Amino acid sequence: MKITSADLYKIDLPLRFSFATSGGRLASKDFILLSLTDEDGETGYGECSAFASPFYTEEFRDSAFLLLKDFLLPAILNQEIATPDQLQDLFSGIRRNNMAKAAIDTAVWDLFAKKNHQSLATAIGGNKKQVLAGVSIGIQSSPDQLIAKVRRYVRAGYRRVKVKIKPNADYEYLKAVRDQFPDLMLMADANSAYRLSDLAKLKRLDELHLLMIEQPLEADDLLHHAALQRELTTPICLDESINSLADAKAFLQLGSGRILNIKVGRVGGLTVARQIQALAVKNKIDCWCGGMLGSGVARAADIAAATLPGYTLPNDISASSRYFDQDIITPEIDLHDGKIAVPTKSGIGFDLDWAVIHRHTVEQLSL
Ligand code: MG
Repeated sequence: MKITSADLYKIDLPLRFSFATSGGRLASKDFILLSLTDEDGETGYGECSAFASPFYTEEFRDSAFLLLKDFLLPAILNQEIATPDQLQDLFSGIRRNNMAKAAIDTAVWDLFAKKNHQSLATAIGGNKKQVLAGVSIGIQSSPDQLIAKVRRYVRAGYRRVKVKIKPNADYEYLKAVRDQFPDLMLMADANSAYRLSDLAKLKRLDELHLLMIEQPLEADDLLHHAALQRELTTPICLDESINSLADAKAFLQLGSGRILNIKVGRVGGLTVARQIQALAVKNKIDCWCGGMLGSGVARAADIAAATLPGYTLPNDISASSRYFDQDIITPEIDLHDGKIAVPTKSGIGFDLDWAVIHRHTVEQLSL
């Protein structure tokens, strides 16, 4: 396949509710939609999940836009690409910037799947007809407010609830939920809000039988996570720390946790996500797919990733209506009995809703 043109759309898609983490509050999901067209006129879609500011990784939307325009897209346009894996070689001169790379990787996988008349899940080697849906809840202003939200999502069918935490919005909040929902698959995500000196605080969470605690310490700190895991019975799951296959290997060797959250965007796309989950399967580590408040295009790639055999735990893949009044895909993603059906149509399996896309596009560029 030879990709001959690319279209970039900066989109500000309003969130139904603002979303608070230990890193800040978001009112809209600002992302880049990438459309790649090949010499036969077939089109693949990918999403760059980088947020408006670099609070999650070093990338932010405007940096990713420049990277795509000036470096990454020129490296792949008009090149002969037999399989999506080959992008890794074409990207080899450009360090990191994984969310920008993921936009291209996922769009090329979509294109590759469409040309082979396969669903994206089948094209990458997935083997599930449906994937388990979990929900992620931002930091609330009181434990009671949190309980009300948890109740709403449990009633909507979500099998696993993740609660964002930070110091002083942690134990009391989680304990209140655990008392109301003794059997719920409950987990916490700290987004690096703690230090190893908070050990006593974190150890106290062991009594709540959480499924896991995600990224308690800093992103660049596999060593302290290993020290912390030796002290906790709750499994540590790493998210921001794992940006590559090499990071996953170091995590395993050091014992920095027992579970991996493999986000397609954070690791640079489906190609590397596949490699990491294969490593996890070999080493009997459970994985699941995290999200970045992505629109339906990112979520379609997440659904495909979650069909891979290494993804064993419920994923942060929720219905479109969890975040948006109107998603950019049709039909919107919905869940039934805590599960999302894997599309069987070729490629990502959804059509794009161009009316919604054009309404919320703030900048567009064609290459
Ligand atoms: Mg996380």
